[in-house]
Parts: sequence; C-alpha cells; structure tokens
Amino acid sequence: RLRKGQVELAASGFAGNVGASRASKSYAGKIRLREIQGESRCMAKPVLIAVDDDAEVLRAVERDLRTRYAEHYRIVRANSGASALQALQSLKKRNEPVALFLVDQRMPEMSGVEFIAKGIDVFPEARRVLLTAYADTDAAIQAINHARIHHYLLKPWDPPEQNFYPVLDDLLSDWQASHKPVFEGVKVLGHRWSPRSYGVRDFLARNQVPYRFFDVETADRNPEIQKMVDDNGGATAKLPIAIFADGTALSEPTIPDIAMRLGLRTRADMSFYDLLIVGGGPAGLGAAVYGASEGLRTVMIESEAPGGQAGMSSRIENYLGFPSGLSGADLARRAVTQARKFGVEILAPQEVTKLRVDGASKFVTLLDGTEIGAKALVIATGVSYRKLAVPGMERVQGAGVYYGAAMTEAATC
Ligand SMILES: Cc1cc2nc3c(=O)[nH]c(=O)nc-3n(C[C@H](O)[C@H](O)[C@H](O)COP(=O)(O)OP(=O)(O)OC[C@H]3O[C@@H](n4cnc5c(N)ncnc54)[C@H](O)[C@@H]3O)c2cc1C
Repeated sequence: RLRKGQVELAASGFAGNVGASRASKSYAGKIRLREIQGESRCMAKPVLIAVDDDAEVLRAVERDLRTRYAEHYRIVRANSGASALQALQSLKKRNEPVALFLVDQRMPEMSGVEFIAKGIDVFPEARRVLLTAYADTDAAIQAINHARIHHYLLKPWDPPEQNFYPVLDDLLSDWQASHKPVFEGVKVLGHRWSPRSYGVRDFLARNQVPYRFFDVETADRNPEIQKMVDDNGGATAKLPIAIFADGTALSEPTIPDIAMRLGLRTRADMSFYDLLIVGGGPAGLGAAVYGASEGLRTVMIESEAPGGQAGMSSRIENYLGFPSGLSGADLARRAVTQARKFGVEILAPQEVTKLRVDGASKFVTLLDGTEIGAKALVIATGVSYRKLAVPGMERVQGAGVYYGAAMTEAATC
C-alpha cells in the first residue's frame, strides 16, 4: 500500500515521493537517455491518472486501465488529491501530456470534484471522470454541471468491457482528436547563417536527437520566436540558445555542453578493455558488434556521431540485407542498438588524440586527457576531407560553405 502523499509512476516501475528532486530527476533522465539512445525515440506516452484513497479500488482501476490502455498511455496512480496534484505539476514540468483524470469522489481532505477543479488549471484538456458510489449519484450529476466533469462512473464497473472501456474509449478518442502534442526535442534559437548555430544543428541531427530550428531573423513575423527571444535575454540574448524539453536553456553552448546536458556518454566505465575501437562509422560499429558478440569487453570511441559518413547518406541501396535500401541515419540507429544489445560501451562525442603501445597493451588518450587501455585496438577513423585552399574560407565554413551532404543542409537549400 502506498503511503499518503505517494504516487506511483506505474509504467516505469518507479515509486517515490513526487517532488523529491532526486527521484524525479533520475526518472526524467531515464526517459531522456532512452530517447536519445534510440531505443524508444517516441514521444512520452500521454498519462491516465487514477486517484483513490482506497488501495484495493486503486489497484483494480490500475489493472483495468493497464489491460486496455498500457500500449498507448502511461498509467499513474495516486492515493490522495494532494499527491495527484503534485504529480500533475511534475508531469507539466516535463511536458508530459495528461489525457484523463479518473478520480474517486469520496476522499478525505480533498474530494474528487475539488481535485478536478484544481487539476483543470494544470491540464485543461484532460478528460475528467468521477468515480462514485450509488449514494453519490446526485452529487455527481451536479458536478457534471458545475465542475465541468465529462462523465461519472458507478462503482463497481464490472464487467469493464461493458461499463468502463466504452466510456473511456470515447473520451480518449475525443481527447486525441483535440490534442496537439508538445514538441519534445531540443529547440535551437539562432541565426540561420551562423556557423555556431549550424554546428549545434548538425550535431543534433547526426546524433538523431529531435530538434527544431528557430531563425531569430524571422522573430518580427513570428510571435513564437519573438517570445523565445524575449524569454532568453531579448536583444542581449547570447545566440545560439539550445532550449530543452524541460524548459531549461543553454546560451552559446559548446558541443560537449549539449552532449552532457542530453546525457550522452563521454566517459568510459572501465580503464582497461579487451577491445578498443576508434571511430564509429560502419567499420567501427561492425567491429564493435562482432567483438562484443564474441564476449569481448568492448568500447567504441566516436568523435562526432555514430554512423560516420554513412550516417549522412539519405539512402543507401547497396548494404547487404536491405534490398529496398535504408537511410544512413536508420542504418546508424540500428547498428548502435545492435552494438548496445551486446554490451558495447559507446563514447560519443569523444575524440582519441594520442596512442601508445606498452608491451601487449595499447593505450589511447582522449580529448579530456583521460587514458583507456585495451588488449586489442581497431582504428576505423575513415576519411577526412580535403578543405578548399581559399584564403578566408574558415570564416564562412558553416555559414554558406558546407562540406558533406548531411540532411541538416537540405533545409537551407
Ligand atoms: C553522403 C554520403 C553518402 C554515401 N552513400 C553510400 C552508399 O550509398 N553506399 C556505399 O557503399 N557507401 C556510401 N558512402 C560511403 C560510406 O559511407 C563510407 O564508405 C563508409 O561510411 C566508410 O566507413 P568507415 O567506418 O570506414 O569510416 P567513416 O564512415 O568515415 O567513419 C569514421 C568515423 O571515425 C570517427 N573518427 C575519426 N577520427 C577519430 C578520432 N580521432 N577519435 C574518435 N573518432 C574518430 C569519425 O568521426 C567518423 O565517424 C556514402 C558517403 C557519404 C558521405
């Protein structure tokens, strides 16, 4: 049984006090990490929140909700109105949508109607269902009129196929029809022709982090962009600015700043491995998968984004096993998932700057100065392109002159 004031984020298996910053942070971190690792790149599932002070009823509600809706919704349960309100606040902060309040009317301290009246302020679009006993029917009917409740359900509702799901199906499809999902990726605010803005966009695109670019030069025609500028320092804003799903922002971020903020892994867990691979293009990823699948403790170090040059290709037609072709980004994502499945540690973005051999062991120095060793070393650093030998070229690189053909550039054509 949950203690008073506790709420359980059922789908994640995480239970804790909402508002306890460590717990909620680690939960939010898990979502972000899973998203960017490409294992679950979908938007956060909308939440159905069930509130009842009776533990047995709460369990039954959760069970019935899970049975039918767990695939598309996340079920959150709370055992009091106060703890449910706290849960709503933290869901709001994390930009997670709430589709349904399913609330018992008779609860001590805060009744169902009182909770709904407050919950509407946080999630006005959520569909609102009151659970009532037969004796409370009159109160429920009044609540429909006064507290903007969509429906009341009499307890018990068995069989759910008849008395529970049809009502919720209808309300949820209604909610889906009117719901505009919040964009959950990174918003990049900057100048279209700024090399730094381009660098941030290119990094996010190549690491398959969903992002949207907002060109400050169009702020006078676009109130959304104007508001972003105003919220981030107005005329003195230090661009580019990366704004994350939780509303926090980084001004003039470096790539390592963004990588750290996104939870990308740049440090090794161990100091010595069986196999160390420098470069995360198709060759490095292939070596990593085969090494780790043979049981070797494997680390792969990539300075930009796993996938290498192949990650920039819009369509690869000649990769074995994919007769109708696939995009380079898709190939990279699949290879990274496969490598991780076998336990490969992928450090990216991280660069190898030095190499030394000591007897049978090989050691590499990383850009941050740390050293990692291994019994075997594979160097799979691919190509580096010749740059145009034209005076002043560096100044316009990323600001009109580009190397490679990543999809990031397509938007500027
Ligand atoms: C736009 C485009 C489209 C393409 N389309 C096709 C196609 O359709 N079919 C086809 O067969 N080939 C295609 N290619 C070529 C193919 O992508 C390359 O042959 C292939 O990627 C080479 O793989 P690789 O792993 O050897 O090297 P790369 O893909 O070059 O990967 C090397 C990696 O090592 C990293 N690295 C370098 N130095 C360091 C360091 N010091 N520390 C850490 N990491 C480092 C780099 O960042 C890079 O990610 C295409 C290439 C491009 C650019």
